[in-house]
Amino acid sequence: MGMNAIRVIGDPVLRVKATEITEITENLARLTQDMLSTMYSAPGIGLAAPQVGVQKRLFVYDWGSGPGVLINPEIKDADGEWVFEEGCLSIPGLSWELLRPKQVHIVGVDLEGKEVSFEADELESRLFQHEMDHLDGVLLVDHLDEDQRREANKTLMGIGDSIGPPLPIVRENLGLSQSD
Ligand SMILES: [Zn+2]
Repeated sequence: MGMNAIRVIGDPVLRVKATEITEITENLARLTQDMLSTMYSAPGIGLAAPQVGVQKRLFVYDWGSGPGVLINPEIKDADGEWVFEEGCLSIPGLSWELLRPKQVHIVGVDLEGKEVSFEADELESRLFQHEMDHLDGVLLVDHLDEDQRREANKTLMGIGDSIGPPLPIVRENLGLSQSD
C-alpha cells in the first residue's frame, strides 16, 4: 500500500476549492487506501484529499469506529455549539480550542457509489466539519479569534525560526499584514 506525503500550511494546494468526483474508479479506490494508510501512520483521525495534493472532494476518517470514506460530502444541517481542541495534520504540532456547531447532518457517497447520511455529534461531527473545510480550501487557522491569531502568529514565527518554512505564506494564511 502506498503512502502519501502530507502537505503542510503554506502549500497552495491546501487553499484550492476541490472539485466534485464524477466517477468512482479503481484509481480512486486505491487513493483512499493510500490515504487511510497515511492517516493511520501520521497518526490522525481524518485526512482530506487536498492534504495529499489531490484536488478532489473526498476524505477518509476513523474516529474510533473503523475506517470510512466520504465522497462529495455536503453538510445539510448544523446545530448547537461545542468547544473542542482541534489540530490538523497539515499544521503539525499545533492545536486550538475552537467553537463550532455540536451536531451536523452530513450526506455523501461511499466507495460503492451508495448514498450515505450521518447525524454526527461531538468528535465525529467535529471531524466531518474539519475535513469539509479542507475541501473548500479552508484551514483551521481561519477559525481563530483575534487573541488566538496573535498567539498563533508568535508560535508559527517560532516554528519559522527553527525549521525555516516560507513564513510570509504562513502569515498570509493567518490573515496578518506584513507589519504585524
Ligand atoms: Zn486538517
